[in-house]
Amino acid sequence: MVPEGPYQHERFRVSRQPYTGLLYDALDSGRWRRAAVVGCVQSGKTFAAFLVVLVWILFELCETVVCGVPQMGIAGDKWREEIKPVINATRYRRLLPVGGKGSRGGMSDAMEFRNGATLKFMSGSGKDHTRSAFTSRNLVCTEVDKYDTAGVTSREAPPITQMEDRTLADPERARIILECTASIPTGRIWTEYSEGTASRIVVECPACKAWTTPEREHLVGWQDAKSIVEAGRLARWVCPGPGCAVTWTERQRRSMNRDARLIHKGQTIDAEGQVRGEEPATDTLGFRWNAFNNMFWTAKTVGQAEWSAARREDEDAAEKEMLQFFWARPWEPPEIELNPLSAAQIRRRTSRFPRGQVPDDAIAITAGVDLGKWLAHYTVIAWLPNERAVGIDYGIIEINTDRLGLKKATTVALRELRDLVAAYPKQSGGTAGADQVWIDSGWHETRDVVYQFCREEANRGRFYPSKGFGQLQARDKTYRRPGKKTPEIRVIGDEYHFARQREAKVDLVHVNADHWKSQTHEAYRLNADAAGSLTLFAAPEREHRPYAKHMTAETQKEIDIPGKGPVIVWERKRRANHWFDATYLAVAAGHRAAEVLAKAGRSAARSGEWFAGRKTTKRSRRA
Ligand SMILES: [Zn+2]
Repeated sequence: MVPEGPYQHERFRVSRQPYTGLLYDALDSGRWRRAAVVGCVQSGKTFAAFLVVLVWILFELCETVVCGVPQMGIAGDKWREEIKPVINATRYRRLLPVGGKGSRGGMSDAMEFRNGATLKFMSGSGKDHTRSAFTSRNLVCTEVDKYDTAGVTSREAPPITQMEDRTLADPERARIILECTASIPTGRIWTEYSEGTASRIVVECPACKAWTTPEREHLVGWQDAKSIVEAGRLARWVCPGPGCAVTWTERQRRSMNRDARLIHKGQTIDAEGQVRGEEPATDTLGFRWNAFNNMFWTAKTVGQAEWSAARREDEDAAEKEMLQFFWARPWEPPEIELNPLSAAQIRRRTSRFPRGQVPDDAIAITAGVDLGKWLAHYTVIAWLPNERAVGIDYGIIEINTDRLGLKKATTVALRELRDLVAAYPKQSGGTAGADQVWIDSGWHETRDVVYQFCREEANRGRFYPSKGFGQLQARDKTYRRPGKKTPEIRVIGDEYHFARQREAKVDLVHVNADHWKSQTHEAYRLNADAAGSLTLFAAPEREHRPYAKHMTAETQKEIDIPGKGPVIVWERKRRANHWFDATYLAVAAGHRAAEVLAKAGRSAARSGEWFAGRKTTKRSRRA
């Protein structure tokens, strides 16, 4: 019987949390000597992967088991609050010790049951003499990432290895189960999981019949919510299947989970449910489930948690919690940055201009757009005299992929964006439109859509597809500055150029992403009244928080590239960096807008100085 939680006093059934059925089948199959189990919280993880397993070994197999805990000090609590209540809720409660320390509330580090099986606790920290004296073929360890990673106090092997050595008397028949929530990528559980079978739970979409593993990015809708209530209402699961993207109801999700399958690293599963590929050669089952598989949660629960986390003051802690506790993924602590720009710095950089209003003295307006499958992020910058610039607007346009399909939905979103940037109200009446709009077309799925949109708008000469090139991306993605203009190379700017795409009949802007990201951060770092600075429209600090998080989702690092020497590169530390991409495109487009205006003889020289000033700074820093 389940001793606590939503199904208290009812029989334990794998159908309530279907991942448990897959786990037990895999453990029962006897194909793996070891198992590393990682899952989300509040899904019955400890119950399913630790307590039930202990009871199974002790009473159904009638075998002795070594139980690893982080510190010996918590063994007593584990026994009284977790293990004993579970045994008490089974028909094996009559086998509890009647005499001695383990009988009435008390406990010892070796509890002997009346069927002859013993539960032996071992500690994962410090020196533990008990680790060397006891042998059993069964080892079940909980919270393994909290164990000492190496013999800090001695030159001994890490505690977990010492515990595993206790099974060596019978290595072929050893049964070792490690359980934990994910911590960091190099933590024990994630290492064991990924070096093991790294198995994943796949579910079949009732619409497209594809078998996929829904992850964090497949919970959508909550991003646009204005309140936590709305976040709960808008949050929904969408199918990751190619070209599908239907929304799943909670009922569908439940039944899909009940029919879920488990496949292993390197394997795929086709629409007929046929698994392809060899099982990896390893003795360790790596088993993982995430929020999608937790039937105690709905899209609403998780969407609200995401929405709140995105607004927490301590961003790193919030992100860490979401990854580890909800998505069963490790969190990577951010590295030390060169000239770190904090989210708080960006939030406070407000100007006196309200959102969406163009200052009267604006020389040019540019916009950058980052396109995803579900959302388009955009940033709009107004270029002012005295070498200043202000972000007058940024935002999100939803791409209605699940209703219209990706391509049509992207076109609709781009048209919405076009109408938005065509007429921003000016301070003292009238409107002004964007001079240059650079739209990221780097994603192959929507590249042609962006090309077509820009071609249709070509007579206005404002919309250009763009593609960012950066050092830390694949090797062939490094930006290469062309030597001279040709019929193909139409414009050579500062770390960007326009290259004619013959078939598509559009000019694609190649942008050195590393360079323009550095320029953008530097502009935010300068004093707000300094030449070459960038500020934001007036809003409470809180309102700029999500934008500021995106702007600091990447860090710049100096690395040595063989044959090139030290270069500044950008590394992503959080997934959500879309406004950063949109903003650096808008900044680079500002350079182009200034050149176009200068050629047209308008008083644009001053706008060009924004960039001139920035270059000087850069050169002096290099020197
Ligand atoms: Zn589907």
